[in-house]
Amino acid sequence: MVQRRRRPLPPSRQQLPATPSMEHRWSPWRYDYIASVGATPATCPFCVDADPGNDGERLIVYRGTHNFIILNLYPYNVGHFLVAPYTHVAQLDDSPAEMMAEMMVLSRRGIGALRKLYNPEGFNLGMNLGHSAGAGIRGHLHMHVVPRWNGDANFMTIAGETRVLSEDLSVTYRRLVEVF
Ligand SMILES: [Zn+2]
Repeated sequence: MVQRRRRPLPPSRQQLPATPSMEHRWSPWRYDYIASVGATPATCPFCVDADPGNDGERLIVYRGTHNFIILNLYPYNVGHFLVAPYTHVAQLDDSPAEMMAEMMVLSRRGIGALRKLYNPEGFNLGMNLGHSAGAGIRGHLHMHVVPRWNGDANFMTIAGETRVLSEDLSVTYRRLVEVF
């Protein structure tokens, strides 16, 4: 008797990665940089030098006086950006008021740019302070700004914790820089 070979299950029948918890769904800024846990100033991706020559490569969209805007390497949605101070500082308690104030001003400016380009229906802003709060890079403050659209948590494919996006990061970068 010829035994039938077992065919592999189609992708939809294979075991899928666990879906994020509700907490993740409600806090998209928790999708932090994955590869840089416990970064020190020497390895910290947010400790950028003063030379703007490589800003395109590093996805730095804009430089302010105390902070800069950078695209998130692992975006939750198209246009997900971060605002980080130039100083390697971990806690809000250690941060001067003018630095914090500019962080909000740059967040607002980035939101304005995203509105023009993508017309989002909402935004999430958030920070992870410390490991328990889900910070990927614990040593360097950064504000996440995530544009949201109705139903975006449902229509995008989730693979592990990285979402499949409809636009390449380099394209988002070029478009954002143009409207800044
Ligand atoms: Zn740093």
